Amino acid sequence: MAIEKGKTEKRKSYCILCAKERDGIPVKEDNVIKAIRLIKRHVLKSEKRNRLVVCKECYADYKKYRKRYTRRQAIYVGLGIVFLIMLLAISPTWQSKLSGALIGIGMTLLLYLLSLLNHVPEIDIPSDGRRSARAGEASASNK
Ligand SMILES: [Zn+2]
Repeated sequence: MAIEKGKTEKRKSYCILCAKERDGIPVKEDNVIKAIRLIKRHVLKSEKRNRLVVCKECYADYKKYRKRYTRRQAIYVGLGIVFLIMLLAISPTWQSKLSGALIGIGMTLLLYLLSLLNHVPEIDIPSDGRRSARAGEASASNK
């Protein structure tokens, strides 16, 4: 690690796909990323506060991964809900329907958590470029 830049340099930005230090489209700080940062800060004590981006070279791949991720998540949650409905349908009494519902909801949550394992975060797609960049700045500063 060569440290040649000034002390007050801005936070480095890393691409989430190729893991290289790159500039790119910023990743939205969603709850999953917040949770990961929290774990890193309190459990691993290794939070680096880098900015996460998707670089130009990885953008096409990113779109593919993101699509796959959201589709898989929808399937997982859909399966959980189907499972929940089936449990309710086959339960003969209200009591067993209640425990069936609890199991079904637990299953859905578990499937949802599983789908987060290969989490691909949303990015600030510069569709109307300047506006979204400014909105990002604003939400970052009023935290
Ligand atoms: Zn990249």
